[in-house]
Amino acid sequence: MLKNSIDIFPWNDNFNTGLFEIDEQHRHLVRLLNALATHVAFRSDAIQLNEIFDALTAYTVYHFTAEEAIWAEFFVEDKEYREHHAVHDRFVQRLNHLKDSQKSRPSDQVAHEALDFLARWLASHILEKDRFMAYTVLAMKQGLTLAAAKAQAHQQMSGTARTLIDIILSLYSVLSSNTLWLMRELEERNRVEEAFREQRRRLEHMARFDPLTGLPNRMLLTEYLQKIMNRVVEQHGGLALVCLDLDGFKVVNDTYGYETGDRVLIVLAERMECLLGKDGRVARLWGDEFVLVLPEVMGMDSCVPWLSKLLMIASGVVDDGRSLNLSVSLGVTLYPQREEITPSSLLRQADQALYQAKLAGKKRYHIFDMVQDHEVRGHLENLEQIRQGLDHQEFMLFYQPKVNLRSGQVIGVEALIRWNHPQRGLLLPGEFLHLIQNHSLELDLGNWVLDTALTQMESWRLQGMTWVTSVNVSGKQLQQPAFVAELTNRLAQHHHDLASCLELEVLETSALEDIAQVSGVINECMRLGVQFSIDDFGTGYSSLSYLKRLPARTLKIDQGFVQGMLQDADDLAILVGILGLANAFHKNVIAEGVETLAHGEMLLDLGCDEAQGYAIAHPMPADEIMDWVTHWQSPPSCLHRPVCSREEVSLRRQAVKDVQK
Ligand code: C2E
Ligand code: MG
Ligand code: MG
Repeated sequence: MLKNSIDIFPWNDNFNTGLFEIDEQHRHLVRLLNALATHVAFRSDAIQLNEIFDALTAYTVYHFTAEEAIWAEFFVEDKEYREHHAVHDRFVQRLNHLKDSQKSRPSDQVAHEALDFLARWLASHILEKDRFMAYTVLAMKQGLTLAAAKAQAHQQMSGTARTLIDIILSLYSVLSSNTLWLMRELEERNRVEEAFREQRRRLEHMARFDPLTGLPNRMLLTEYLQKIMNRVVEQHGGLALVCLDLDGFKVVNDTYGYETGDRVLIVLAERMECLLGKDGRVARLWGDEFVLVLPEVMGMDSCVPWLSKLLMIASGVVDDGRSLNLSVSLGVTLYPQREEITPSSLLRQADQALYQAKLAGKKRYHIFDMVQDHEVRGHLENLEQIRQGLDHQEFMLFYQPKVNLRSGQVIGVEALIRWNHPQRGLLLPGEFLHLIQNHSLELDLGNWVLDTALTQMESWRLQGMTWVTSVNVSGKQLQQPAFVAELTNRLAQHHHDLASCLELEVLETSALEDIAQVSGVINECMRLGVQFSIDDFGTGYSSLSYLKRLPARTLKIDQGFVQGMLQDADDLAILVGILGLANAFHKNVIAEGVETLAHGEMLLDLGCDEAQGYAIAHPMPADEIMDWVTHWQSPPSCLHRPVCSREEVSLRRQAVKDVQK
C-alpha cells in the first residue's frame, strides 16, 4: 500500500492484555494506525487515505465483534459489557464521520485529526478498558465470580499500575507526535534534496551543453576529444578536427535580427549532426563557430570528401520565406601527429587554420600547417628564453678596439653584445637580435646594453682611460620618444661626465627610416655631448642630400666593401667614393672588418686612418682590454705611412681591375 511505511507507534508490551486472540487483533489495529501515521507524514493522496479508512472500519468492526463475543460470555447482562459495546459503537461512528468530513475539508487535515483521535483512543482503550475486561475474564477463568473478578481487576489497575498507564499514555502521545514531526522533516528534506538534484542536473546540463542548439559545448567537447584521441591511438586509427565558422553571420543578425540568426544556427546544427551520423561529434563553441570531430579519417585523402560536404552545409538555408546566402569556412587539423598533443592544442590548431581560411577569402577550408606552427612556437619560446636570459644575467658585452693605424693610437672600443647561453655557449648577436626585432624586448636589451656600457666606461674612467666607447643602438630604440630624456637620466647616474666618451652607432638603414626624426635625436644627443656614427655605411644608399642632413660625426664603412676592395674594383670604387664624401661633408671615417695587414695598408694608402677588425683585435671581454691596449702597436708598415696621390690611387684601381679580369 504505502511505501516507506514506518512504525511510528511501535507495539508496547504494556498493551498486552493476556488474552492472546485479543492481543493479536490489537496488534493489527496498531499496524493500521501506523499506516495512517505514515500517510500523514508523507502526505499521500486522498485515495490512499480512503483505503486506510476502509481498512480501519472493516477491521475494527470485525475486532469489536470478536472481542465482544468474549466479553459477552463472561459479562452476561453486565453494565460493563453494555458500556464497552457503546464505546465501540461511538468509535465506529466517529471514524465514519471523519471519513465523510473529507467532502468538506482538506483530506490532510482530516488525516491529522483521525490520527490524533485513533492514537489516543487505541492507547487509552487498550490500556484501560480492554485490560480491565481481560483481567476480569482471566480471574473468572480461575473460578472467581464476576463481582470478585472485577474487584480484583480494579485492584490490579490501581496504584503503581495506574501511574504506569498514565506515563505510557503521555509518553506515547509525545513520542508519536515527535516521530511524526521528524518524519515530516525527513520528507521535506527528501523533497528539497530532490529539487536540488534536479537543479544540479539542469546546471550540469547547462555547463556542458549549448542551450540554443542542444549541442555539446567546449567543455564537453574537450572531454570527449580526450577519450576519442585515446581510442584513436589504441586502435591505430585517425580523426580530423574541423572548426567551422559561418561567413558573414553578422550580416544575417544585423539584417534580419537575432531570432533569424538563432534559427540559422539551429538548422546548421541539425544538418551537421545528420551529416556526421552517430560516429562523429558536433559541438558549438560560441556564436557561429562549431567544431566537428570527423571519425575514421586516416589522412587528407579520406578527409577531403567530408570537407567538400561541409562546405555545402550552409547552402540553401531558407528562413521565413527568405533564402539566405550563406557559406562557411573550415579550419582542419589531423590526429594523431608526430608529437603528443592535448585536446585544447588540437582545437587551437583547427582554430588557427580557420583563421587562415578566412584570411584567404572565406568559403574554403585550410589545413593546419605544422611547419609554420613550429616556427611561430619556436619564436615565442626564443623570446621567453631571451627574457629569462636577461633576468639571469646571461648577456655580456665584448669590446673591440678601434685604432688609428697611421698614428698607432687606440681611439676607442666598440661594445658588442654576446649571450652566454647556458646550453648553447657564447652566442653572437646575429643569432638572437633578429628574434626581438620590433618586440618590447628589443628596448629592454638595448637599455641593458647602454647601462652596462656606461658602468664599464665609468670604471675605465676611474683607471684613467678616456677612449670613446661606441654603443650600437637599434632604430626602434632611437625612435622612442623618451630616448634622449632617458639617456640624459642614465648619464646623470654616473659620477663622471661620460657623455663626451660615448658614441652611438646607428645603422645607416635605420637612420634612413625616418631621417627627420633621427636627425633630431642626433642633434639633441650632440647637445648632451654624445657623438654619433653611421654604421655599415654604404649599405643604405644614402643620397647626398640625406648625408647632408645627417649630423653624425663619423661614417663607418661597411666591412663588405673593405673586405672586397683588394680584389673587387667596384668595392674599391665605392670605398674611394665614401672617403671622398666623408671628406666633402667633413665627416670622420673608419673602416670596419679589417682582416689583414694588406687591408690596413690599402686603407692608409687611400687616406682612411681609422680601422677596426680582426687584424687589429677580435672583440674581447672588458677585463682584457687594458692589457691589450698596453701591448698594442701599429704594424711598422702602417705607422706614419704616407697617403697615395690621386694618380697612384687610380693606378691601384686599374691594377685591381686587371687582376679581376
Ligand atoms: P657592427 O656594429 O657592424 O659590429 C661589427 C661586427 O663585425 C661585429 O660582429 C664584429 O665582431 C664583427 N667584426 C669585427 N671585425 C671583424 C673582421 O675583421 N671580420 C669580420 N668578418 N667581422 C668583424 P658582431 O659582434 O657579431 O655583431 C654583429 C652586429 O650586431 C653588429 O654589427 C651590430 O650591428 C649588432 N650588434 C652588436 N651588438 C649590438 C648591441 O649591443 N646593440 C645593437 N642594437 N646591435 C648590436
Ligand atoms: Mg657597430
Ligand atoms: Mg658595422
